[in-house]
Amino acid sequence: MILMRTLETLLGGEWVTTGAWIDVHDPADLRAPVARVPALSAADVAAAYDHAERGFAVWRRTSPFERARIMTDAARLLRERVARIAEDIGTEMGKTRAEATGETLKAADFLEYYAGLARQGYGTLVHDVRPDTRTHHQREPLGVVLAITPWNDPLITPARKLAPCLAAGDAAVLKPATDTPGAALHLARALHDAGLPAGVLNVVTGRGAEISEALLRDPRLAAVTFTGSNEVGEGLRAALAHTNVRFQGELGGKNATVVLADADLPAAARAVAAAGFAQAGQRCTATSRVIVERPVYEEFTALLLVETAALRVGPGLAAGTTMGPLAGARQRDGVLADIERAVEQGATVLAGGGRPADEALSHGCYVDPTVLGDVAPDLDIWREEVFGPVVALRAVDSFDEAVEAVNDSVFGLAAAVFTQDLGAAHRFADQAECGQIAVNTTTSGWDVHHPFGGFRDSGSPFKEQGEEGLRFYTRVKTVAVHFG
Ligand code: NAD
Repeated sequence: MILMRTLETLLGGEWVTTGAWIDVHDPADLRAPVARVPALSAADVAAAYDHAERGFAVWRRTSPFERARIMTDAARLLRERVARIAEDIGTEMGKTRAEATGETLKAADFLEYYAGLARQGYGTLVHDVRPDTRTHHQREPLGVVLAITPWNDPLITPARKLAPCLAAGDAAVLKPATDTPGAALHLARALHDAGLPAGVLNVVTGRGAEISEALLRDPRLAAVTFTGSNEVGEGLRAALAHTNVRFQGELGGKNATVVLADADLPAAARAVAAAGFAQAGQRCTATSRVIVERPVYEEFTALLLVETAALRVGPGLAAGTTMGPLAGARQRDGVLADIERAVEQGATVLAGGGRPADEALSHGCYVDPTVLGDVAPDLDIWREEVFGPVVALRAVDSFDEAVEAVNDSVFGLAAAVFTQDLGAAHRFADQAECGQIAVNTTTSGWDVHHPFGGFRDSGSPFKEQGEEGLRFYTRVKTVAVHFG
């Protein structure tokens, strides 16, 4: 029997609990909770901002080299603790051990990468038309940043935000996903153990909607970075309208992979299966639409079905599993309803289409990897984000029709093309209205130093990751010094 663990959260440099709790479940077996986490109140949120304000006063004056040292030490601790952290991510979110291990190591990469940028410094000397005057501009921190993160990458997403935030000299209030808070607490513990001063990071575990007002209306709030659904993201954007609070929203996607007639079809099928079914499709960059030139539609479909049949669905942490459950019952039931509606609207199920038949998986949040054929462009499943292991296929007659199909979406996160034609690849990169373009590789899997973010309803003008990622967390000050 698994004993339920009680998790503490980090406020003002102390590990604390409160009287109210949220249960955390293992999506591989929902019968009993595996952990509980403090459900913070609006008053706790106000206290978190008090701590963050004091933390910021210390951190902004901490040398960038010391900031970098702490972040590098925290990265080392994540690597040392990888087995335990991966186990906890697998338990609370359902990822396979390989996926959870990869996530932990990538979170360490984020800290190391931005530690390097912190050491480098940023600013530029510019000429001045006045004599004996020198002018430069420098980037400086904003203050207290609120980071709100979803359940699908419970460690990387907080790390992707906290690493540039801390490198820049900002303090943070982190609101991790309600269902998967444990991973973010591992990150907080690594930073705390590495010597992060009290109050620089405060983790507000709780139900987003209940503490939303307290999170968003605090006068000390300088910026909000959010990753999650369009519905919540648009609500936050609206709540912050007419304020000076900067907003970054990394929202949904409906990512397409185009397979042209000259493509390496086995490579394309492997890439679509990888990007469609990794993390049971719960990635913002998951491939969910595949647009195939008609002459190779049948052959590509057959290859994709072979890749799909090779997947082993089971508990994420079990040996041999290559696709775990969805993160919870809400997610599973939503995906099943999407598939059912697609079938009612005319899609053909070529693989999967429901819950696995295996009785041993009946207590978990499993959905079979699903391939839908001949999906017309007006079907909901073609237009709306599913966030589950479902790939929809459609045949087209030309390159132009393929690009038109990619761009016929309110989203614009990631798109891929498979082709041997260099010209077609470049034309695709120029014409696809997405922030991330892949040629002969998957829509997922961007490195920490690659600028990342979507166009249209998928994102905001501020990119994450890479040097671009620092912009959101800093403001530019121009300084003229007259020395005549
Ligand atoms: P969600 O929007 O339901 O929740 C995200 C976070 O917001 C959670 O921490 C939640 O507690 C909090 N929240 C909810 N209501 C709130 C409110 N009123 N005020 C403040 N906080 C609130 O998203 P989710 O279901 O956790 O995640 C899945 C979504 O995330 C998908 O749409 C996916 O595309 C998106 N996503 C986008 C990216 C990207 O980089 N573009 C990456 C990963 C996930």
